[in-house]
Amino acid sequence: MRQEFDVVVVGAGVNGLATAWWLIKRGVKKVAVVERFAVGHDRGSSHGASRITRSAYADPLYVALMKVAHASAWPALEADAGAQLIHKRDGCFFGNPAGMFGDYLAAIEGADVDVERLDAAEGRRRFPMFRFPGAVEVLHDRTAGLVAAHDTMHALHGLVRAGATVLEGVTVRAIDPVTRVLDTDRGSIRGETLIITAGAWAGALLPHLNERLAPILQTVTYLDIPGDPRAFPVWAWRGDTVDDFYYGLPEFQRAGLKAAHHLVDGRRDDPDAPRGEPETVRVLEFMSTHLSSAPRAVIATERCLYTCTDDEDFILDTVAPGVVVGAGFSGHGFKFAPLTGQILAELALEGKSSVAAFEQSRARFR
Ligand SMILES: Cc1cc2nc3c(=O)[nH]c(=O)nc-3n(C[C@H](O)[C@H](O)[C@H](O)COP(=O)(O)OP(=O)(O)OC[C@H]3O[C@@H](n4cnc5c(N)ncnc54)[C@H](O)[C@@H]3O)c2cc1C
Repeated sequence: MRQEFDVVVVGAGVNGLATAWWLIKRGVKKVAVVERFAVGHDRGSSHGASRITRSAYADPLYVALMKVAHASAWPALEADAGAQLIHKRDGCFFGNPAGMFGDYLAAIEGADVDVERLDAAEGRRRFPMFRFPGAVEVLHDRTAGLVAAHDTMHALHGLVRAGATVLEGVTVRAIDPVTRVLDTDRGSIRGETLIITAGAWAGALLPHLNERLAPILQTVTYLDIPGDPRAFPVWAWRGDTVDDFYYGLPEFQRAGLKAAHHLVDGRRDDPDAPRGEPETVRVLEFMSTHLSSAPRAVIATERCLYTCTDDEDFILDTVAPGVVVGAGFSGHGFKFAPLTGQILAELALEGKSSVAAFEQSRARFR
């Protein structure tokens, strides 16, 4: 027998859950979330203890969107969840001002966010754990912090379970965008409206997007370092090539300083069988050059998938009448989730969003 809902959300990563939370907040009665694994699984993009949030971005549009996310979307989720999900930490973002880091410096000019530009000497005074070698400048981002990612997933799951039907262990095999019927391995489901937030698998469900969405396996390293790993800022180094990008977070809810290479080298991985070795050598090399005291050992590694678009812009769009897509979060989507959830829910219900920064730049998200 076919199950019928007002809105069906495909995929219960952070984006699908945040979208369903908004749909429930907006009073939609029959919402279903369909997830092929168990909510909180570690085969997609939304698992793990922590993510970075920040205002420092290479693009004024994302600076503007983060302003809304920090001011209203995260506080709304924390209030509904009754839990602290953002843990403020200093942000330290650095690079060569004559290279790609110059875009970060330009994007915060006049943006009215609490981000301060420092020379390397002042950077070393405020962040003595880094060496800042060569011609480096620093952005001290006081809006930055840790997103408690696991806690966020747990909170959203609780909110969504209370107001929607969550169908776990159900794989959507195909979508008919005209009838809005989903063919699943447990029978068919129809939504008056569909919202596809299927992460690295979105291209498999929406073939016209497949070319534009590149799943790429990432590995994260947890390091034993001299000193207190909790005292670190959240940080990122932006070098002069697309691939020269490293980031890290202080210790949070599990042992070790988290550090990783942002791997975007044009490859496409199969999200069902991603292959790749942990980039520990590369990360250790970077950390040994840039930290005041070199790391002692690797404690653990973790795998996670990016789904990248060419320009790292998200896709937030209505792709057919009654079919909305949120995809291509390109390794930077978690910090936006309560806001992108609102945008996707509003696109589904009203065809437009109340988030002005999004509406003014809608073409970027098509
Ligand atoms: C190593 C790493 C570090 C990151 N660091 C940061 C950071 O510091 N800050 C930040 O903001 N962002 C960061 N991100 C990015 C962020 O985590 C992602 O953008 C975000 O989690 C994407 O969530 P999603 O819901 O779109 O995808 P997912 O979490 O992958 O969710 C998609 C879901 O859809 C389900 N699904 C797929 N196909 C089907 C189907 N056919 N039927 C049923 N269900 C289906 C999947 O099982 C999955 O659960 C990082 C990502 C990685 C990998």
